[in-house]
Amino acid sequence: MEMLELFEDITLEDVVLNKVCVGKVVGCKDMPASVVKKILTDGVMGFFFVEEDDCAFVLEKRPWIVNGVLLNLKPWSVEGEVRVAEFEVASFWVQFHGLPTRFLKDENAAIMGKKVGSFLKTDGKSKEVLVHRGYLCAYVDVWLKHPIPAGFFLNDDGKLESWIQFKYEKLPHLCFNCGKLAHWNKECFVPLAMVTPKVGEAVQMSGTWIKSETGRVNCFTMKGKGVSKLIVDNGDAPEWDLNGKHRRGTWKR
Ligand SMILES: [Zn+2]
Repeated sequence: MEMLELFEDITLEDVVLNKVCVGKVVGCKDMPASVVKKILTDGVMGFFFVEEDDCAFVLEKRPWIVNGVLLNLKPWSVEGEVRVAEFEVASFWVQFHGLPTRFLKDENAAIMGKKVGSFLKTDGKSKEVLVHRGYLCAYVDVWLKHPIPAGFFLNDDGKLESWIQFKYEKLPHLCFNCGKLAHWNKECFVPLAMVTPKVGEAVQMSGTWIKSETGRVNCFTMKGKGVSKLIVDNGDAPEWDLNGKHRRGTWKR
C-alpha cells in the first residue's frame, strides 16, 4: 500500500481546544414535547463556542435538561474522537437527606456518592451550612442504563434504621416503576422496584421524592401518594444558539 505524507499544523488544534463539547440526548422516543425531536437526532452533536469560557461554563453547569430530557454533554477531545461509552454516564448533583446531624460531615458525601456512581466532588460547604440545611451533596457520574439509586438504610448502632433518601437535582424523566431513565412507566414491564425496611411494609422506591425539588419527603413519608404522577419540565423552549455571546441561551437547568 502506498504511503502518503500530509502536512501538520498544530495551530489548527487551537481552533477547537477547550471550545467544543459533544452532546447526546437521553430521552424517551415518544416524548410529548416535540422541540427536542425536531432539532436533534439520535446521534452525537458537536457544540462549538467562540469563547473557551462559555464552553467551560456549559460543562461546569451540567446536567442540562431540555424539555425534561437529558442533553448529556462531554468535553471533546482535540483528536476529534467521540467515545460513545462516555455517554453511558452523566453527572448529577445528588443530595443525601435524612442523616442525623452528627453524620452531616462533608466526607460522608464522598462515601455515599460512591454508592450512587463514580464520585466526582462534594459541594464543599462549611460545617455550619451543612448542619443548617440538613443534607449533604455530591456531584456524581451516574450510570444511565441502571436504575437511579434511591437511597439506603443507615447503620446507626442498633438504633431504629433511618432511610437516607437520595434526591437528584435536575433529574430528567424517570420511570417510577423501575427507576430507569429514558422510558415511560406505561412501557415498563418489570416488577415495581420496592424498598423493604426491617420493620413495616415495603414501599415504592422511585417517585417524585427522588427529585430535589420535593423538599424533605421520602419514599416512606410519601407512601401511596403521587406515585403515578410524572413531573414534566415543560415550558421553556430551548434556544439553540450556543455560539451566541455570554450565556444568553435559555436552556432549562
Ligand atoms: Zn421502567
